[in-house]
Amino acid sequence: MSGVVGVFSNSNEHVSPYVYYGLYAIQHRGQISSGIAVNNNGFVDYVKELGLVNEVFNNETIDRLRGNIAIGHVRYAAHFEAKNKANAQPLVVGYKRGALGISLDGSIVNFMKVREEMEDSGAIFQTDLDTEVIAALIAKYHKNDFNQAIVDALKDVQGSYAMVAMTNDRIVAARDPHGLKPLSIGKIGSDYIVASETVAFDTIGAELVRDVEPGEIVMIDKDGLTTIQRSPEKRSMCIFELVYLARPDSIIDDKSVYISRSEAGKQLYREFPTEADIVIGAPDSGIVAAIGYAEGSGIPYTEGIIKNRYVGRTFIEPTQAIREQGVRIKLNALRENIKGKSLVLVDDSIVRGTTIKRTVAMLRDAGAREIHVRIASPPVTHSCYLGVDTPSEENLIASHMDTEQIRQEIGAESLYFISLEGLVKAAGEENGFCRGCFSGNYPVERVE
Ligand code: AMP
Repeated sequence: MSGVVGVFSNSNEHVSPYVYYGLYAIQHRGQISSGIAVNNNGFVDYVKELGLVNEVFNNETIDRLRGNIAIGHVRYAAHFEAKNKANAQPLVVGYKRGALGISLDGSIVNFMKVREEMEDSGAIFQTDLDTEVIAALIAKYHKNDFNQAIVDALKDVQGSYAMVAMTNDRIVAARDPHGLKPLSIGKIGSDYIVASETVAFDTIGAELVRDVEPGEIVMIDKDGLTTIQRSPEKRSMCIFELVYLARPDSIIDDKSVYISRSEAGKQLYREFPTEADIVIGAPDSGIVAAIGYAEGSGIPYTEGIIKNRYVGRTFIEPTQAIREQGVRIKLNALRENIKGKSLVLVDDSIVRGTTIKRTVAMLRDAGAREIHVRIASPPVTHSCYLGVDTPSEENLIASHMDTEQIRQEIGAESLYFISLEGLVKAAGEENGFCRGCFSGNYPVERVE
């Protein structure tokens, strides 16, 4: 998973602050590297580094990055190549027609195959990125018409993507034919901004115009916005965006992430009514569904776990000895609210199962009488190859344990997962969804 932003302005010669604040708003989509590339009348400059947006950029770098067209990227990578600085985006390349910048969120499943074919005819690649293969295809197909080159290049790739590309005179935004990855268009004055999530617009005061449609390629230049291709297949937006990945204050394909999470909480109660004294949420990702569960059940929502706001992505992992003493660096139970209570604990998902097990133990330590765990997504049984970095199958607890075994493993009085139908209903049945992580059925086949 990653986050992308692109800005085009006819009048503002310094749009990189917009990209910076946009990236800041979608930092949750990637914390490995951050980058911004600008085009200043044909001269491309960029800064990209391993690190968070506020670690990579400061006043000086943003001031240096001048131009009326800019793109940005925050990268999440759990793979072997994660810490390789060469894989930071935007990717900036020069080719016979000029400079090209690309930021991509997603996963191109056939990229190694395409890359090897291109390498056989002499192409050289400098990164492990699927994005570089798209850049090479654009260079290959660019005869006279850049827009046509994008159309042709994207025809050769399969997978999930939300892409923003930049040339000397335009931004191009494209979403894969299934719309697996989110991508929205906003406007501020006469300037356009494209971003993975609409919170990027809110942060700079831009208005949401609409989503890029599945299979749509849009071009934004001095004459405004034009659709250059529409070739949709069955809409299959990643349902895990609504479950966990996106910010609750974002709107994806006209659906409020907050509302879909809160509906999932209500649905969970309808499916598994439980009597308890309080409902608590696992911070931060389970809170909205917990509020929904409380609303649906009439059981009071109560603060039960406090998160240390200053624990970032990296902290010194406690040694085993310290861990055994029961340190609680990130999360701590609010004893006053928990002691002697029968409680419903709501979380968004169980992946490996380690987090929920630790949380249940912590609540037990704090004196909880009964702990009923409710999960606002079905068991994650399959590892995603379309851009969500889930652990490999053998590390997914639900791939080898049923609900009763997981209940025993995590030490709860009861455990229920929302049904897949129930989740889809909460997320808005009219939107087609990819539910591969719960069912194993993906809209795009894996390429070995
Ligand atoms: P665990 O079961 O220990 O793997 O942790 C699951 C929790 O991690 C969920 O409740 C989410 O809050 C969060 N989570 C879910 N998917 C991911 C992911 N792909 N990357 C990082 N965290 C995740």
